[in-house]
Amino acid sequence: MLIVVGAGAAGMAAAITAARRGIEVVILEQNDRPGKKILASGNGRCNIANRHPDPTRFHSAHPELVKKALQGYDAQRVLAFLGSLGIETEEEEEGKLFPMGRQAASVVKLLTRECQRLGVKLVTGCQVTGIRREGKEFLLESSRGSYRCHQLLLTAGSPAAPQLGGSNAGMLFAQSLGHRLIPLRPALVALESDARWPRRAAGVKLPARIGLLASGALVTEREGDLLFTDYGVSGLAVLDLSREASLRLAQSEPCELSIDLMPRRSKERLEKLLGDRIDPRRDLPLDLWLEGVLHRKLVPLILEISSIRAEKEKQLNRKTIRQLVYAIKHLRLPIEKTRDFRYAEVAAGGIDLAEIDPERMESRKIPGLFFAGEILDVDGDRGGFNFHWAWSSGIRAGNAVNR
Ligand SMILES: Cc1cc2nc3c(=O)[nH]c(=O)nc-3n(C[C@H](O)[C@H](O)[C@H](O)COP(=O)(O)OP(=O)(O)OC[C@H]3O[C@@H](n4cnc5c(N)ncnc54)[C@H](O)[C@@H]3O)c2cc1C
Repeated sequence: MLIVVGAGAAGMAAAITAARRGIEVVILEQNDRPGKKILASGNGRCNIANRHPDPTRFHSAHPELVKKALQGYDAQRVLAFLGSLGIETEEEEEGKLFPMGRQAASVVKLLTRECQRLGVKLVTGCQVTGIRREGKEFLLESSRGSYRCHQLLLTAGSPAAPQLGGSNAGMLFAQSLGHRLIPLRPALVALESDARWPRRAAGVKLPARIGLLASGALVTEREGDLLFTDYGVSGLAVLDLSREASLRLAQSEPCELSIDLMPRRSKERLEKLLGDRIDPRRDLPLDLWLEGVLHRKLVPLILEISSIRAEKEKQLNRKTIRQLVYAIKHLRLPIEKTRDFRYAEVAAGGIDLAEIDPERMESRKIPGLFFAGEILDVDGDRGGFNFHWAWSSGIRAGNAVNR
């Protein structure tokens, strides 16, 4: 018999795979229903996988082991598994795959249905509170009594999104059994700043290019949506940078964003555009003149930062235009911290892969103990990579458990 702790994507993929091989499977899930993170994913549309799961899109202290674990688990393989459940997919931009009906709820229904068909016993409302080893057996204590098994799979996920059941409990059980934990940090998460000006622009969303500076040096750069908020910044480009920011902030490195509010125009083209639109006869007040090209909530900020004296458009000259362009393309924002796990899509860190066989997802220390999904020290980029990891590692574990 196999006991699986956690009915998320990884746990259900593993349970189905093992049960199809004739293995008796029991899943223990603390929530009142399975797959709560699946339900919340992609704003309820579920970005279920990605067409190009290149190893570089996954992050870990041991990228070489992630690469091994992903070998043979390309999009085709994952789509074949999803297809076997009755889930057809469609591709959107950047290789993102979605269920054709764009309904996360249907994905959970089809997973649950297959578990039922195969006789997998799904015990919900069952919080595992302790795990210990007795001889060759695992003894589990839970809110619904104790369980014993010879093979145990931990797919209890990460502490990201505790409101959906996110928890580090599984990692602590693994630690108590002798496994090492790579420190956890929120990832795919918004960033907080003590600077007050983002509040003045709260609600403004625009395409931007954002550079992350750590200790003054450019670390990485992303282009995409940027959203100003009353705590700092969010938006897809910010989420994409957040893992690196989280890592640097944890090492107490001072972090700052350099924001280009008009990435589609080079400095020269923007200088020309602004220079050409000076009309001395019209002679607009400078703030109104700038509103012709920039969101009105950003105008006072840019005027303040560029510290130009002009009040009317006809007072502008080459130098003041250059100052304006510099302010628009190099807006600086110090970052103090990431938002906490409640707002994170995933956690970076987790159970150290160095102690796991990447082909079997089995502990190298304790035979019969398996892991899959986000509990492990693997997190993916935004775009379906986290589910790709959950399905692939789950299927691997389900194929490795003994009959
Ligand atoms: C809001 C949001 C949106 C997301 N959108 C996407 C997306 O569109 N595409 C994508 O690829 N990824 C997305 N992700 C990330 C993705 O959901 C996760 O990486 C993935 O669900 C991890 O699967 P898992 O099975 O490893 O863990 P989980 O899905 O977290 O499952 C773990 C399960 O274990 C249970 N559990 C924990 N502790 C115990 C215990 N002690 N006893 C019993 N049960 C326990 C939990 O309740 C949970 O059900 C999103 C995440 C969030 C939070």
